[in-house]
Amino acid sequence: MTGGPQLDDSYARAVPELSLPWTAVRAPAPRLLLLNDALATGLGLDPAALRAPDGVALLVGNGPPGGVRPVAQVYAGHQWGVWKPRLGDGRALLLGELVDPGGQRHDLHLKGTGPTPFARGYDGMAAIGPMVREYLMGEAMHALGVPTTRALAVTATGAQVQRDTPLAGAVLCRVAASHLRIGTVQYAAATGDRDLLRALADHAIARHHPAAADADEPYLELFRSVVDAQASLVARWMLIGFVHGVLSTDNTTLSGETIDYGPCAFMDAVDPATVFSSLDTTGRYAYGAQPDIVGWNLARLGESLAPLIGDDAAVQDVLAGYPAAHRRYRTAGMAAKLGLAREDEQLGTDLMELLHAQRIDFTSFFRALSAGTARDLFLDRAAFDAWAARREALLPADRAAVARAMDRVNPVYVPRNHLVDAALDAAGQGDLGPVHQLLELFAAPYDERPGRAEFARPAPGGAPHVTYCGT
Ligand code: AMP
Ligand code: MG
Repeated sequence: MTGGPQLDDSYARAVPELSLPWTAVRAPAPRLLLLNDALATGLGLDPAALRAPDGVALLVGNGPPGGVRPVAQVYAGHQWGVWKPRLGDGRALLLGELVDPGGQRHDLHLKGTGPTPFARGYDGMAAIGPMVREYLMGEAMHALGVPTTRALAVTATGAQVQRDTPLAGAVLCRVAASHLRIGTVQYAAATGDRDLLRALADHAIARHHPAAADADEPYLELFRSVVDAQASLVARWMLIGFVHGVLSTDNTTLSGETIDYGPCAFMDAVDPATVFSSLDTTGRYAYGAQPDIVGWNLARLGESLAPLIGDDAAVQDVLAGYPAAHRRYRTAGMAAKLGLAREDEQLGTDLMELLHAQRIDFTSFFRALSAGTARDLFLDRAAFDAWAARREALLPADRAAVARAMDRVNPVYVPRNHLVDAALDAAGQGDLGPVHQLLELFAAPYDERPGRAEFARPAPGGAPHVTYCGT
């Protein structure tokens, strides 16, 4: 790749105190496992050049540097509710920023590139399985219309990583609107340096919420924009049954993109208490807890921006609007899923209770509903009939059009945990076939494929309630 892509470092220049120039540990024998051709092309990169030795070297952190120095970003955060004054990229680097042919700026970020000064005693490495999981989840979320970071590539390093057993190491190359997190603002606020906090907020405004720059109170408007973006994001998660798994403030972005796919998964049978992280013993980040916990994270953002805003009552006002904003997004999304002519919040709430009470598979219910076979899923049919009659009253006259519209927003295929785990097991054995098969299904999740019924079903015998998706 002649010269490599030209990268920028606007973040490092805007807030030099918030990152540290750092170099990746050299990968001894890089081997490209997955490359996202569509994403590369959209970024203005040539997939063939990325597959060549210089391209692979770029994707694994061996260079060429692209004109700027990679940095490790520092941030703080509340993990499991506990304040951590210094987290940061322990095993990751911001390679640089790429401006695509449409003028959009993206972070190119590497994960698994060796310990940085923020590694807190961890090894700074990543294994193939979790990095391929992040690739799969990001692509599925993107095709489902959810704002998300995306993987450009996974490259095996040729080095071994010690987990419970020795595993093959890998580097994920991730593309994000930015890596600005609530935890980044928390870190800047905690330094007590008002100028640093202002520089960070200005950078965030310019990058993600440029309209805020013209508002009477730009920092209050920034806060309002992030609250709105997160209210919308969490609604989308709830509408597809996604459980993030670790919603610490450092995993909550200012851009409103989903970030850091660790112990995340899609819910099969509806249960608000669904958790997938073996660490989440209290259900802090359970499916049904997500709207509230993101609200909690946004409150921490409000506190951090408060010194710039200087009007605590206004901050509280914006925060107080979050639950209603979230419910509006969710009610509108649910109306589309149900094919309704007009929104009805209570109908959606009652549906979720009904699905929970009868342990109905979330994803396939909506396709069964459009196909007219949903009733068969219920043991207590009278309860379904009563709910269905209320829905019926809200449907437009052209029922065929309703069914078609529903099938454009209700996926057939989502990354169910048992499918992802099986594909990752195969990848660990060197067979990427099942991963490619899933990527193909998830790229067009609304199109039913012949002979692929087993990929649309929940785990045989019921999904395990807790899985161990180590990172
Ligand atoms: P996460 O839960 O993946 O968002 O990570 C939380 C924090 O732990 C971040 O600061 C990571 O950089 C850091 N971290 C996680 N795994 C490792 C590792 N193997 N080596 C160094 N830092 C890590
Ligand atoms: Mg994280």
